[in-house]
Amino acid sequence: MARVFLSLGSNIADRAATISQAVSLLSMSDKINIIKTSSFYETEPWANKNQGWFVNAAIAIDTDFSAMELLKYCQSVEAELGRIRKQGEKWGERTLDIDILMYDDKIISNGSILTIPHPLMHLRAFVLVPMLEVKPDLVHPVFNKTISELYDELYNPEDVFLYGTILPKKE
Ligand code: AMP
Repeated sequence: MARVFLSLGSNIADRAATISQAVSLLSMSDKINIIKTSSFYETEPWANKNQGWFVNAAIAIDTDFSAMELLKYCQSVEAELGRIRKQGEKWGERTLDIDILMYDDKIISNGSILTIPHPLMHLRAFVLVPMLEVKPDLVHPVFNKTISELYDELYNPEDVFLYGTILPKKE
């Protein structure tokens, strides 16, 4: 059994509903127990500003999946929820992104297929702010710093203000 932290994001269609459904689908696996879910945060897009704002959340789970099995399972949830049909087009844009932030205190570097801890998690307010709710004293095994410390050290102060409305927590 591993303690794992996931980041979820959606910026198309009913974003909060998509995140809620993703948490439900994850919990349907008999190899996943949801331990804690953050509030939902509305956040400005990080790199490409030419798209809608996101809803982001972080969750803690216990899982009997290996890291690679979990990646595949998360991708199946993304595939189930993450695409909307558009007229004249078989599959439209992705509406759901699930990132594995940490898997116990393992450091995994499997080419571009799987990197854990997630290589950008320490730079993203939209990851760190929800994680402050879920496990602020979690230690990042590469930097040996807690989530709180990483949040305090965000390089670009603008990043701290990336999040907007805090949507009601859905349990
Ligand atoms: P994206 O399009 O941003 O969702 O990126 C998905 C790709 O990132 C997939 O091909 C994954 O294999 C890869 N990936 C690498 N590390 C991770 C991680 N920690 N969590 C989720 N996906 C990852």
